[in-house]
Amino acid sequence: MAIEKIDEARCTGCGICVLSCPMDVLRLDKETEKAVIRYPEDCMLCGWCTIECPEDAVTLTPEKASPLILSWG
Ligand code: SF4
Ligand code: SF4
Repeated sequence: MAIEKIDEARCTGCGICVLSCPMDVLRLDKETEKAVIRYPEDCMLCGWCTIECPEDAVTLTPEKASPLILSWG
């Protein structure tokens, strides 16, 4: 997994990370109104969610947090 967790205590549910993720990994949970990691296997480690989150609530897996070039197909 590349994206590791979203800190619920910090997350305000603004939805910026959901909109910034090019891989559609994140969703806003309807019950908690917080961001959740829905499709972690699709994360390509671009880092936009951590860059864009105003609350610093998103954590990437440390050992995979550096940019990687992944091949498709
Ligand atoms: S950008 Fe940050 S505060 Fe906003 S929904 Fe995502 S994790 Fe929560
Ligand atoms: S690192 Fe990029 S692909 Fe992974 S969850 Fe964040 S925005 Fe989406």
